[in-house]
Amino acid sequence: MLKKRPRYMLQTYGGEILKKSSAQVTVFDRELADLANFMVKAMHELNGIGLAAVQIGVLKRLIVLDIPQSSMSNPPTPGEMQLLPQMPVALVNPQIVEFSSDLEPYDEGCLSVPEIYAEVIRPRQIKVKAQDLSGNNIEFECGGLLARCIQHEVDHLDGFVFTDRLSDEVRDSVSEELTALKRRGKKFNYQRDIKR
Ligand code: ZN
Repeated sequence: MLKKRPRYMLQTYGGEILKKSSAQVTVFDRELADLANFMVKAMHELNGIGLAAVQIGVLKRLIVLDIPQSSMSNPPTPGEMQLLPQMPVALVNPQIVEFSSDLEPYDEGCLSVPEIYAEVIRPRQIKVKAQDLSGNNIEFECGGLLARCIQHEVDHLDGFVFTDRLSDEVRDSVSEELTALKRRGKKFNYQRDIKR
């Protein structure tokens, strides 16, 4: 018998699920690979460069990335050299095990927080441990947009969105837009359809 395809919705700002912590992935099966494939499709459809499973309502520690090769740092970091040519990639159970003390500001956006961009200050370089879809361990150090995006996505897995990390001043500058977004989200149950 054919299994019914699960239906996913994009979860938006204010929805309770985005505040939840995602569970460790322990089974590396076809279902996980299918989920990652769907996430890549959805991310492309929505013109994003990163997506965490919780953003489509699945509380699993799985993220997908499609970081442009053109974002490579100069000089490139080992993780960028390793991962950028392989994009899009899925990282399972990603963990940031080291952060540089060196910080940098960057205007972030998020598919779950549509049309709002705001400056977030984060460590410039990180060391990451993760697994691939087959359960093989991966470990790398990276900077650039890749490091930025991984920090943003791992935050999602821990129940945070980038707007939780704004300075008071930046938060004030977008607070009206955020309130409007929350109101709009509530009306639609904090979900948006994903075209497929
Ligand atoms: Zn996001």
